[in-house]
Amino acid sequence: MTTTPAIRIENLVKRYAAPGAGEVGKLALKGVTFDVPQGGIFGLLGPNGAGKSTLINILAGLVRKTSGSAEIWGFDIDDNPRNAKRSIGIVPQEIVFDPFFTPFEVLENQGGFYGIAKTLRRSEELLRAVHLADKRNAYARTLSGGMKRRLLIAKAMVHSPPILVLDEPTAGVDVELRRLLWELVTQLNQDGVTVVLTTHYLEEAEQLCDRIAIINHGELIADKPTRELVGMAREKIVAVTVDKDLAGPFMEPSFIKAEVVEPRRLEVTYDRDAISAGQVLALVQGHGYAIEDVSTREADLEDVFVQLTGAG
Ligand code: ADP
Ligand code: MG
Repeated sequence: MTTTPAIRIENLVKRYAAPGAGEVGKLALKGVTFDVPQGGIFGLLGPNGAGKSTLINILAGLVRKTSGSAEIWGFDIDDNPRNAKRSIGIVPQEIVFDPFFTPFEVLENQGGFYGIAKTLRRSEELLRAVHLADKRNAYARTLSGGMKRRLLIAKAMVHSPPILVLDEPTAGVDVELRRLLWELVTQLNQDGVTVVLTTHYLEEAEQLCDRIAIINHGELIADKPTRELVGMAREKIVAVTVDKDLAGPFMEPSFIKAEVVEPRRLEVTYDRDAISAGQVLALVQGHGYAIEDVSTREADLEDVFVQLTGAG
């Protein structure tokens, strides 16, 4: 038996309208295909302008796709837009609220929008979940940026969708709020919600997501379990401190890069499939240096990202 993916995206293309006569509109998505499995935290990673928000906004029904298809919880967004929309809660990148509503009213209005009977609404529970119970009756305009973001998460969950999508939830937020948002997202996921988040922070995707798709210039360039993706980084770095000043940079054919970063400290980048750290050390010793200290750096998502995008 195969489980329906939470989201299925097939050959999705978006060309924005041309800005003027005789001009060509931006091709923001160039035929993107991937599935978001149920139950996990899925990261859609890519630099600014990659097409992440365009993709999310198509799912939200805010942007009209040029071609291709998308299914949410098994519902095609064209054939079954109502059910598709009911299956997803979206926290947009931009914060917009009517400044004269209180957090409680924002959630109640949203409940009304979804036709949820007053007695079945979860406004109080959701306010507690996002730590805003004490701001229940404050005007939205008096909330801090972080509070507004949390309120947006509660608002996206009003109709209890099985999927929550957050577009750049931590862009420009401080460390403390970022931690709180991560906790919230993890908690929701543990409660059974499939989470999708877009981010341009590699570290965030690596720590939070069990699966990551990377898009760059509107194209999907990777889609793998996080661990596998990180494992793709073949370059390793070993930093060596030696007993005397290094006589200029020195290179070996099996090194990718050798950099003297301090008079007695050398950083060697090597292909872990080609040689071992031990062999690197032996080569350094072969140049007449005694080794006093060694540290290696494991490859991380950033290394993979640089490899895949050719960035940096
Ligand atoms: P991301 O969210 O990954 O930063 P976006 O989806 O916002 O990327 O943007 C992808 C590309 O589409 C960018 O080049 C952006 O300038 C362009 N774009 C986004 N929205 C519009 C729009 N409404 N009209 C025209 N071009 C747009
Ligand atoms: Mg964006």
